[in-house]
Amino acid sequence: MVILRREGREDRRRGERRAPKLSRRGLIIGSIVVVAIGAVSAMLILFTGSDAKIGPNVGDHFHAKYAVRVCGEKIIDFPYSSGGIHTHGDGLIHIHPTHVREAGSNATIARFMAGTGSQITENFLILPTGERYETGQPCPDGKIGQLLLMVDGVSQDNIAGYVLSESDTEQIHDIEILFQQVDEE
Ligand SMILES: [Zn+2]
Ligand SMILES: [Zn+2]
Repeated sequence: MVILRREGREDRRRGERRAPKLSRRGLIIGSIVVVAIGAVSAMLILFTGSDAKIGPNVGDHFHAKYAVRVCGEKIIDFPYSSGGIHTHGDGLIHIHPTHVREAGSNATIARFMAGTGSQITENFLILPTGERYETGQPCPDGKIGQLLLMVDGVSQDNIAGYVLSESDTEQIHDIEILFQQVDEE
């Protein structure tokens, strides 16, 4: 009887001791759950963010039509150009980035143009021949020119930094780099 009582007491003591241990474990598990929920939320936010992000991913491959026109004259299509955002001399921009520096928001018109030996900024265009056209300078007819970027017929605020994204429709994007008189649109 005495032994049984002792066992009983020991059980109670163990029970008393176990209780705080369990609650500590509970706290640890609880905080792990909180951290896990936090991590999942953060991942969800990141995923939502990546869905909303602009530009191609590494490994994507899609095309856009392009044309460069200066003072009403079409510049001949660029030959094969370098980089992941390039042309095959076919009047198309091939957008298939091979690394992050030319993917996402780095997949810009400026990057494409650089690969052709051209340069484009928000206000000037330099062709591979070295011919330079800057907003405010006149065309041969004396009319003041302006650098414009049209995408599917819509003038873009961002020229050099315009990011080449995949078309949502079956029709690929139609990109025009124009240096033309200011009032002509
Ligand atoms: Zn291609
Ligand atoms: Zn290619």
